[in-house]
Amino acid sequence: MKPIVRIAPSPTGFLHVGTARVALYNWLFAKKEGGKFILRIEDTDIKRSTAEMTDLIIESLKWLGLEWDEELYFQSKRFHIYKKYAEELLRDGICYPCYCTHNELESRKGIAIAQKKAWKYDRKCLNLSDEDKKGLARMPRALRFFVPEGKIEFDDKLHGKLEKDCSDIEDFVILKSDGTPTYNFACVIDDHEFKITHIIRGEDHISNTFKQILLYQKFGWEPPIFTHLPLILGSDRSKLSKRHGAISVLDYREQGILPEALINFLALLGWSAGEDREILSKDELIDSFSLERLSKTPAVFDYQKLEWMNGEYINKLSDEELLKRISKIGFGSRELNFDREYILKVVAILKERMRKLTDFWELGAYFFKEPKEYDKEGIEKHFKYPETQKRLLLLETRFSGLKDFNLETIEKAIRTTAEEFGIKAALIIHPMRLALTGRTVGPSLFHIVEILGKERVVKRLNKAIKFLR
Ligand code: GLU
Ligand code: ZN
Repeated sequence: MKPIVRIAPSPTGFLHVGTARVALYNWLFAKKEGGKFILRIEDTDIKRSTAEMTDLIIESLKWLGLEWDEELYFQSKRFHIYKKYAEELLRDGICYPCYCTHNELESRKGIAIAQKKAWKYDRKCLNLSDEDKKGLARMPRALRFFVPEGKIEFDDKLHGKLEKDCSDIEDFVILKSDGTPTYNFACVIDDHEFKITHIIRGEDHISNTFKQILLYQKFGWEPPIFTHLPLILGSDRSKLSKRHGAISVLDYREQGILPEALINFLALLGWSAGEDREILSKDELIDSFSLERLSKTPAVFDYQKLEWMNGEYINKLSDEELLKRISKIGFGSRELNFDREYILKVVAILKERMRKLTDFWELGAYFFKEPKEYDKEGIEKHFKYPETQKRLLLLETRFSGLKDFNLETIEKAIRTTAEEFGIKAALIIHPMRLALTGRTVGPSLFHIVEILGKERVVKRLNKAIKFLR
């Protein structure tokens, strides 16, 4: 039997990396087993769900390349179905109407807490007299599931047997007074109707799973196989949240992370390919994926590692492809007026130093704009001695006289200038780097000079010579 799995995000927020990891594991599992991966938008909370968030979730999944099979499903289009099932349960006495308002519930809960009693719904409406019921008949009412006595247990693929005593579960609402279903109810109906075979989701849903199992039992349906994934922690070992920086998938796109790197990184957050393999393409991930190698312990989200991995992926791209990716995240205000050839040369020289696409601008700003100022420490170190000015002056003259401005002639000009002054080339190279780039470190200077070209180089040397006066 081919598995059918799903990802069921709520469009009340962005696609969180945690949800993206859940989506990825489901997707990998479906691909590996030749099954299906379904996307269901859980927009039952009409007030908090927005079409904009739905669009962003879709955009995030598409950007990651986690395409789904079948059409896109919306729970908001299925309200009549949940209602039908709820009425069935009502008829069979498996759920009952609850007329308590939010305020009434809050006040009774407050009293219980003040008396240091644990609160769960007190079944007030289960015990209404026939007369009360008559009086309330036209009032808005929710439907609550009548939780039976006993134990609920299920076999989690990862955690083994999990169990809970029913006395720890309150009669939970399945249909709200506005006629919309709660998450647990809609989820079970849909997972059943879509013939979901495996549910892979976060550990934070274990308490929901017990309630869902109760529903499966009452409907007489076979529950799917559950796998609850450990949480993702931030670097301080608390649950990953906004405090730890970006958590929305599209934030990573903006930061210049490649989707293939994020996929590779997320895959290893709680799963291992074995043999310590770390860089794995999507196909390799599919090939080696199995629920058996999931880890039970929480995974720590290590941003440095993501950057490292991203750097590895950037390095593997062709210059053309890398330029395409950089352009995609937008040239922004730095709209470029340079020819493609020139930009490609800059891409080539920066590539192996880049860890994020945005590094292109950080590392290579001087290729597109004359440096406004020189690095402070650099000034102290390399612009300190009066001789420097003379050296740069001679170099500038040499460069100006060059007919062919290429790596070879550039290097020769620098070396002969150094020889003329009887000094090591480094004493020219360092001040020159500062003059041309405003910085003290960077890629090979000869290459920088060549890419910048004679005109820019001479102009910048002149500026530095004036600065040294
Ligand atoms: N809408 C739920 C969530 O985003 C779905 C959980 C589930 O996979 O059942 O957490
Ligand atoms: Zn009630």
